[in-house]
Amino acid sequence: MSNRSFLRLRVEGMTCEGCARHVTEALKTIPGVEMAQVGSWRAGQATIVASAEVADSVLLVALQKSGYRAVLVERRELEPGRTVPSSKDRNYDLMTIGGGSAAFSAAIKAAELGARVAIVEKGTVGGTCVNIGCVPSKTLIKAAELCYHSAYPQFEGLTACPPPSNWQRVVQQKDELVAALRQGKYVDVAAVYPAITILKGDATLLGGRQVRVNGTVYEPEKIVVATGSSPWAPPVPGLHAAGFLTSEQALSLEALPASMIIIGGGSIGLEFAQLFARFGVQVMVLESGPHVARAEEPEIGQALVRYLEDEKVRICTNVTISRVERQDGNYLVHTEANGKQEICRAERLLVATGRRPNTSGFGLDAAGVRLGPRGEIVVNEHLQTSNLDIYAAGDCVGDPMYVYVAAYAGGLAAENALTGVGKVYDLTALPHVTFTDPQIASVGLTEQHAKAKGLHVQTAVLPLHHVPRALAARNTKGLIKLVAEEDTDRLVGAHVLAAEAGEVIQEATLAIRFGLTVQDLAQTFHPYLTMVEGLKLAALTFKRDVSKLSCCAG
Ligand SMILES: Cc1cc2nc3c(=O)[nH]c(=O)nc-3n(C[C@H](O)[C@H](O)[C@H](O)COP(=O)(O)OP(=O)(O)OC[C@H]3O[C@@H](n4cnc5c(N)ncnc54)[C@H](O)[C@@H]3O)c2cc1C
Repeated sequence: MSNRSFLRLRVEGMTCEGCARHVTEALKTIPGVEMAQVGSWRAGQATIVASAEVADSVLLVALQKSGYRAVLVERRELEPGRTVPSSKDRNYDLMTIGGGSAAFSAAIKAAELGARVAIVEKGTVGGTCVNIGCVPSKTLIKAAELCYHSAYPQFEGLTACPPPSNWQRVVQQKDELVAALRQGKYVDVAAVYPAITILKGDATLLGGRQVRVNGTVYEPEKIVVATGSSPWAPPVPGLHAAGFLTSEQALSLEALPASMIIIGGGSIGLEFAQLFARFGVQVMVLESGPHVARAEEPEIGQALVRYLEDEKVRICTNVTISRVERQDGNYLVHTEANGKQEICRAERLLVATGRRPNTSGFGLDAAGVRLGPRGEIVVNEHLQTSNLDIYAAGDCVGDPMYVYVAAYAGGLAAENALTGVGKVYDLTALPHVTFTDPQIASVGLTEQHAKAKGLHVQTAVLPLHHVPRALAARNTKGLIKLVAEEDTDRLVGAHVLAAEAGEVIQEATLAIRFGLTVQDLAQTFHPYLTMVEGLKLAALTFKRDVSKLSCCAG
C-alpha cells in the first residue's frame, strides 16, 4: 500500500501572486508535505503531495490560519515514485498526439511528475523545428551569410572569396546536423525516460478520451493535442495546378535555380529571399500588403528593404496575383501592383504566406474539441479544450507559432492536465526574431500598438552608426527603437535591427517582463564594444543627444 497521497484543494481568498506564495509556503511548512504548489492565484487551486498520515484537516487549518478558506477536492493514494495519481485501468496517464516540440515537452514534464506517457507521431519524430523548420533554415542562413561576407568583405583590404559552388554539400551538412540533433535532442532524450513510449502511427480521436493508433484503441487519462501546423497557400487561380515549393522543399532543393519568386514578405519569406539571393539566385518577393515585415516597426521594415535591395533582392508590395501558370519550365505569375500589371517569371516559385493549425481529419469534432475561425484549437487560459480531458499546445492552438512557445505550452498543458494545478498560459514579454542579416528582434508593443491600447508613449530611435560595436565591426546596418510610457518611463517595447539582434533583445525582454524603466537601462553597466550597449545608448537618446557623448556614453 502507498504511504503518500496526492491532494487537490480549492482555495478561496487569493488575490495576487503574493497570496499564491503565502499559500504554498503555509502548506510546505506542514510536516509530511513533500510538494505543494499553486499554479496561479486566479485558478484558486493548490496541489499537494504529502505523507498519507497528513490529515486533510491539518492542511485546511494551516490555510485558515494564513487567512484563506480551503476545501478538499481530491485525495488519492500515490504509487511509489509518482507525484501524480494514476488510474490503473487506463493504459497511459497522458498521451500526446504529435511528436514535435510541444509534445516532447509535455511528455518530459509528465514523466518527471511520475506519469506513464505515450507520444504518438505519424511522421518524423521531432516535428517541424528540428526536421524542417528552425534548425535547417538557420544553418543554411548562416552558410549564406558567411558566403556573402567572404564575397563582399566589410573591411577594405581583405580579399574577397568567390561564393561557393557546392550547394549540394551545404545541404548535405544541413541534413547531417538535423539528423544529429533529432537523435540527440529527441530520440535519445525520450530513451532517458523509461516512462515515455513512442508509438509510431496516425492517432484518431474517437470521442471521450479514446484514441485509435494502428488499430488499437487506447483510453489515456488525459490527452495533449500537439499536432503542429502546415504551410498555407492563398486561393490564387492556377497556383495549385502549377505546383510550388513550400519552405520544407526549398530547404532541400537538389540544385539552385537561376531565379525564384517568393510569395509572402513575412519572416520566413524574407529569410529565404536573402538566403537564396546570397547563393546567387535572382530573387523577387511579392507581398500583398503595403509593407514587408508587417508586424514590425515601419522604420525597421523600410531599412531592411533597403539592405535587401542592395543585395539585389527585388521587393514588390501591394501586389495582387491574378493567376499563376507554367510555361517552358518557368513559372509566370500575373501581378498587379499600384495600377501596373506585370507578368513575373522565374524558374522556381516559393509560397511563404503563413501556416495553419493541423486540426482536421483526426477526430477533434468526435471528441467535442471546438475550433476557432482559422482552424485553431480553442483553449482556455490553462490550455484546456472544450473536452475537459483534452489539452492542446503548440502551433495547433494558433499564433504565435514559435518553438519556444510550443515547448513552454506543452509542459504547462501536461502539468495542468495531470495535477489540476491551473497554471496560466502567459505570453507576457514574448520576444521574436527574424533571421535576416541584419536580424530583426522585437519584444513588447510597437509605437502603433501602444497608442492603439491608449498608452501615452514616447519613442527613441538610434541608428547603429552611434553604436561603437557596429562601427568597429564596420557594419552599421540597422537601428534600435524603444517605446516607453511617457509619465512612468516604463519600457513597453524594444525593436532592434542589427547583426545578432536576437542576442540583444533578451535584455529588453527582462526589462519589460520586470517593469524596468528606460532610466534603469541607461543607468546599468553595459560592456563597451558590445551590441547590447546600443540598448543603453537608445535609452539615453530619450533625454540626450548621444552624438555629443564620449566613449562608453560618458
Ligand atoms: C521554415 C521554418 C522556420 C522556423 N524557424 C523558427 C525559428 O527560428 N524559431 C522558432 O522559434 N520557431 C521557428 N519555426 C516555428 C517552429 O518550428 C514551430 O513553431 C514548432 O516547431 C511547432 O512545434 P509543435 O510541437 O507545435 O508542432 P510540430 O513540431 O509541427 O509537431 C507536430 C507533429 O504532430 C504530428 N502529427 C500531426 N497530426 C498527427 C496525428 N493525427 N497523429 C500523430 N501525429 C500527428 C506531425 O507529424 C508533427 O510531427 C519555424 C518554422 C518553419 C516552418
